[in-house]
Amino acid sequence: MTAVEVPGENTERTKPRSGVTVLAGPTAVGKGTVSTFIRDNYPDVWLSVSATTRQARPGEEEGVHYFFKAADDFDSLVADGELLEWAVVHGVNRYGTLRSTVEAAVANGKSVLLEIDLQGARQVKEAMPEADFVFLAPPSWDELVRRLVGRGTETAQEQQRRLETAKLELAAAPEFDYVIVNDDVSRAAAALVDLMGLTPHHNV
Ligand code: 5GP
Repeated sequence: MTAVEVPGENTERTKPRSGVTVLAGPTAVGKGTVSTFIRDNYPDVWLSVSATTRQARPGEEEGVHYFFKAADDFDSLVADGELLEWAVVHGVNRYGTLRSTVEAAVANGKSVLLEIDLQGARQVKEAMPEADFVFLAPPSWDELVRRLVGRGTETAQEQQRRLETAKLELAAAPEFDYVIVNDDVSRAAAALVDLMGLTPHHNV
């Protein structure tokens, strides 16, 4: 694998807080783990619950992890302009952010966090350029490869495809306002919450 430049952490504030923070990053960097940690430990963060066409996994609850939608219902959300952004992720399922819930949370003074993919982050940047855009980076390229390949559930060809995608995704880091390195989940979560202007402590 050729060397890929991995961005270092940069959390120095460069713009006024808007109340909305978007967290994105390459495949397998651990965005889901960081957002789960935040859901479980930082009640002051209002984590947006996305709509998705994918099936619920064991333990996932309607309205907590996602709003699970049939394809037709998702089509209606798109047609009615109810999604702030949406994208097909990993070439299969659709995921989108419900505009009304985010707007209501912002209006109520909540600190809103969207954990979405890169395509979605770019759409939010068009719609809400004042939001804070945070890129979650791996500690190193080798570590990202380990996390991606580690599960051993994908074929060599699929792993190669994902690594190529991850390379392109890493190259998007300069589009973001801030970079947080996911070297340790609780530390990365604390850095994110700190950036959002909330107290970086948790109850574990
Ligand atoms: P999972 O199916 O593992 O829960 O999530 C797969 C991917 O979908 C993750 O990369 C996650 O960031 C992304 N995702 C979750 N919700 C949304 C959303 O509302 N919009 C977009 N664009 N991506 C999302």
